[in-house]
Amino acid sequence: MNETGLGIGSRVVLDASRFNSVVDVLLGLNYRVVGPVVKGSAIIYDELTSAEDLPRGFADKQAGGSYRLFSSDTRAFFHYNLGPVSWKKFLYPPVKRLWQAERKKGGFKPIPEKDSTKKTAFFGVRPCELNAISIHDKILCEGEHIDASYLHMRENILIIAVNCSVAGGTCFCESMDTGPKADSGFDIALTEVLKEESHFFSIEIGTKKGVDIVKHLDFRESDRAETEAADGVVSDTATNMGRMVDTSEIKEMLYRNYESSRWDEVGRRCLACGNCTMVCPTCFCINVEDTTSLTGDIAERWRRWDSCFTMEFSYIHGGNIRTSHKARYRQWLMHKLAAWIDQFGSSGCVGCGRCITWCPVGIDITEEVRAIRDNELEKEG
Ligand code: SF4
Ligand code: SF4
Repeated sequence: MNETGLGIGSRVVLDASRFNSVVDVLLGLNYRVVGPVVKGSAIIYDELTSAEDLPRGFADKQAGGSYRLFSSDTRAFFHYNLGPVSWKKFLYPPVKRLWQAERKKGGFKPIPEKDSTKKTAFFGVRPCELNAISIHDKILCEGEHIDASYLHMRENILIIAVNCSVAGGTCFCESMDTGPKADSGFDIALTEVLKEESHFFSIEIGTKKGVDIVKHLDFRESDRAETEAADGVVSDTATNMGRMVDTSEIKEMLYRNYESSRWDEVGRRCLACGNCTMVCPTCFCINVEDTTSLTGDIAERWRRWDSCFTMEFSYIHGGNIRTSHKARYRQWLMHKLAAWIDQFGSSGCVGCGRCITWCPVGIDITEEVRAIRDNELEKEG
């Protein structure tokens, strides 16, 4: 196949020996490229200057309350799972100035905030994260209240997805129908196939922009065995996923169990630290703060991520309406898996497992749902 045969839906192959050229092509096309890098003993997302920055040869081990990154003898580029940072850091930053105002004689002059117009490639977006971005798109770009800054950023993003070739210790995307293979929402999706005798990337093109990138690569047509091998990689990942959530009538089941004794148990363990909301790729609650310069000449309005686990979050009319950890954990889980469906038409959880890994006491959302369901069945039985 030559470049004129490329179109949306095309599948081609790039040999791993040529993989570095993908980042080079993006940089050459003036994209700022953001992707996985090792920092502070974890894989996070940061700016790439070449494919050499990728955590090639690294692997991770994740469990409830535990994350360990180590060098392995693999030649793979993507033999690891998600770290604590999600793409919301870029599209919906943790701290953001919304506007400033400058004092003028007899009034003030608003100074609008300028957002970056640099086109950016998100490199290495996993399927569950594509789903998280799509949830934010719906809420922040298509809802009643459009977030102009998010929309502006989003319009400048190119997405290079990577299908998962290994199941993480806390992942459960298969049961949430959000992975481990990307179905939509990408410009290009890569599947890394590493067998003793061969190492290549199967590339699926999702958009016209994806076509324009792939035509710069030294690709070749994918034969049937290569396409099947790539599909086999993701189906093996799905098979090896250790956790799952039974989503059947989950909203109704949770609403029925608002007074389950399980909330007391988990409330005794929960520290209300808010880690789960900070690492979650779909949590988007914020607080807004105003500041003034010491001279009183400049006022600023800032937006900061907030969490339903803080006391201040549910402070209404002189009092907090969720004073216990139990009430706050219940609010979080019920919103994610039940009320979100009523509010936005989908689950608020994409099964990425971050809240399990980064919970200091190892509270596991999959285990909590199972326990609530089991308790109900026991009562009925
Ligand atoms: S609730 Fe947990 S598993 Fe679900 S999307 Fe958020 S961090 Fe990931
Ligand atoms: S569930 Fe875990 S991470 Fe979330 S607030 Fe409680 S202790 Fe913190």
